[in-house]
Amino acid sequence: MARLTAISGVGAKGPACFLVEAGAARLLLDLGYGPNPGQWPDVEGVGRVDALLLSHGHRDHAGALKLAPQVGNPPLFATAAVLDRLGRSAGGTVLPLQGNSEVCGVRVRTGRNGHAPGGVWLHLDIGDGLLYTGDYGVESPIYAYDPPPPAGTVVLDGSYGDYSGSIEDCVAHLAPAFDRGAVLLPVPPDGRGPELAYQFSTSHGILPCIGADLRASLERLASAERGSLRPGVATLLARIARDAPPIAEPRGILLTGRADASDGEAADLATRWERQAAPEIVFTGYFPFGTPAHRLVGARRASYIRWNAHPRLEDNLSLVRAVEPRTVMPAFGDARHLAAWSRAFAPARVTIEREITLSA
Ligand SMILES: [Zn+2]
Repeated sequence: MARLTAISGVGAKGPACFLVEAGAARLLLDLGYGPNPGQWPDVEGVGRVDALLLSHGHRDHAGALKLAPQVGNPPLFATAAVLDRLGRSAGGTVLPLQGNSEVCGVRVRTGRNGHAPGGVWLHLDIGDGLLYTGDYGVESPIYAYDPPPPAGTVVLDGSYGDYSGSIEDCVAHLAPAFDRGAVLLPVPPDGRGPELAYQFSTSHGILPCIGADLRASLERLASAERGSLRPGVATLLARIARDAPPIAEPRGILLTGRADASDGEAADLATRWERQAAPEIVFTGYFPFGTPAHRLVGARRASYIRWNAHPRLEDNLSLVRAVEPRTVMPAFGDARHLAAWSRAFAPARVTIEREITLSA
């Protein structure tokens, strides 16, 4: 009998951590921290695991690696880009962006998740198949997405609940701010940052001003990590990395990390420009309570315009129709969406129980 246990990441926004037990193998999928301060997964009862597989390198999926000793310091499996960005290339085993691997006797298939550099979904050949999407997206202008194979059980990215706005809507909402021409956008360099730099460069035909962290990320994406990109995108990303000016004054489109302005250049700039009218400040992703982003949006000095980095309800529905699972576990989203998920994904059984048996 095989079993899946959501150690963390189901029922509310929280760090990703899932335990899969199949035969003698005990595998941990992701070991994240956050996104809110102090949100560590409780791995106390997990015991020794045989391997730790990472879907991608974002903090809420890979930020709790310091807890690895508590689960027996298992060998780490992730794509080369993820290991590299985490500084774990020496100790880890490389999973392909697309292809098959064997981890502790379990066949693992991976495909690109359309969400982050080196990011993949994981399909485990256990029973009638277990698909763990981690975070994924089908709308990214730059990150490639590979449709996953059929699986009896799917743990999918329910971050957006029943939200259904498209990335074209995001573009339309951002356009007026882009056109007004003095906007600071704090962004994650390994997520939406390169997407927004690409989007602005293609829509306006001029380059944004970028921070050093975003430039370094773009350089990697356009070279060693170009396997994560959609065809034809690398050339423009390389040009942005090479030619985009650094951020000097409150003029133009200004992209830099961190996404919630809690650290890095975005923190410095937000502090410096907070009391003047320009530039506008726009946050585009989730920000925790108590961060500068939270405070500035609350004080109406900054605004929030979502940039889709996760699947809409209809994207998840397309995934469910293609993968044809019997059981769906929506992860990373709030439990209040359970009824909407259940309606959308029927006849599949939709559950946010902590522990489920994997069908044979
Ligand atoms: Zn992510």
